[in-house]
Amino acid sequence: MTDDIHADRRRRAAARLRGADADGLVCFPSRNLQYLTGFDEEPGERHFLLAVPAASQNGVEPTLLVPALYETQVREETTVAAVRTWADGDDPVAAVRDLLADLALREARLLVDDTMWATFTQDLRAAAPNATWGLASEAIVDLRIRKDDAELAALREAGAAADATVGDLRDLGADAVGMTERELAGWIGDRLAARGGTGVSFEPIVGAGPNGAKPHHGHGDREIRPGEPVVLDFGTRVDGYPSDQTRTLVFDGIPPDAYERIHETVREAQTAAVDAVEPGVTAASVDRAAREVIEAAGYGDAFVHRTGHGVGLDVHEEPYIVAGNDLELEPGMVFSIEPGIYVDGRFGCRIEDLVAVTADGCERLNHTDRGWR
Ligand code: ZN
Ligand code: ZN
Repeated sequence: MTDDIHADRRRRAAARLRGADADGLVCFPSRNLQYLTGFDEEPGERHFLLAVPAASQNGVEPTLLVPALYETQVREETTVAAVRTWADGDDPVAAVRDLLADLALREARLLVDDTMWATFTQDLRAAAPNATWGLASEAIVDLRIRKDDAELAALREAGAAADATVGDLRDLGADAVGMTERELAGWIGDRLAARGGTGVSFEPIVGAGPNGAKPHHGHGDREIRPGEPVVLDFGTRVDGYPSDQTRTLVFDGIPPDAYERIHETVREAQTAAVDAVEPGVTAASVDRAAREVIEAAGYGDAFVHRTGHGVGLDVHEEPYIVAGNDLELEPGMVFSIEPGIYVDGRFGCRIEDLVAVTADGCERLNHTDRGWR
């Protein structure tokens, strides 16, 4: 990502604020701040803010207020020209008050980061008691929801690393039997790194047998047994952008009776939903395409979650592929298609790939085999 991309995003965010009936935007260390500046930092207890005034606020520019110890780093890693600092021992609320006053935002309507810690929103209230408040998503979601070429390239590469790791898992075969879920999760993390990813985009899910019937089971001490379906849901990051892919594999032996039909049903549901993706259709209709296949097979009650979620700097973001979401899909939107069937106490089955909406349909970002062997 070049620096110009971030400056352009700040300009576009500033231009959108008026449409959201807002005078300014205040971010703290978050994916929004990363999106607007390129600076990727976990939130901490020190006040660290980006204030973006609406475009029509002449003469004032997006300004970072950062702890003094971050100044060099922020100047090196971002193109934000206006950087203010406060030092340990100073009053950070006074620094926030001065910043908002100088940007003419103390009496304004401000959008704050949806994930901002309450301690900082309380301090913002103290610094601007007459301001009114909204959420950053009111203005930012509509920017982040359509990915540009650089974002799509990163998402493709992260998808390729996950694909290659699925290949490694198939090669592991019977050697996975006897490993604990936790050991296999660690092994997956190592393979993702070896395949070009950076870290894991979330703690891998390794759900063996009955654990696979809990869709968000992480991983535990259970040993993988022959014939047991194992739900494997994992991803890594490339240039900050994640992959998120699920395969359900049987590493050795014969799976339970109902499993083959269930796996085939999930696979058909996944294909039907991917085939339904094109510009102009609603997110809800893609959910319906997957759900109809699973309901027709008699497993409707066992598909206990939405069909998918958007993927960008956040692994879960808009658009959500869920009943009731009438958002119309547009080129550049990226999301997961991940139907599943969960048989309580026995096993689960989920197949997940990411897709990007194109001008005339969609592009899959994962290409590896979807079979269970
Ligand atoms: Zn997943
Ligand atoms: Zn997912």
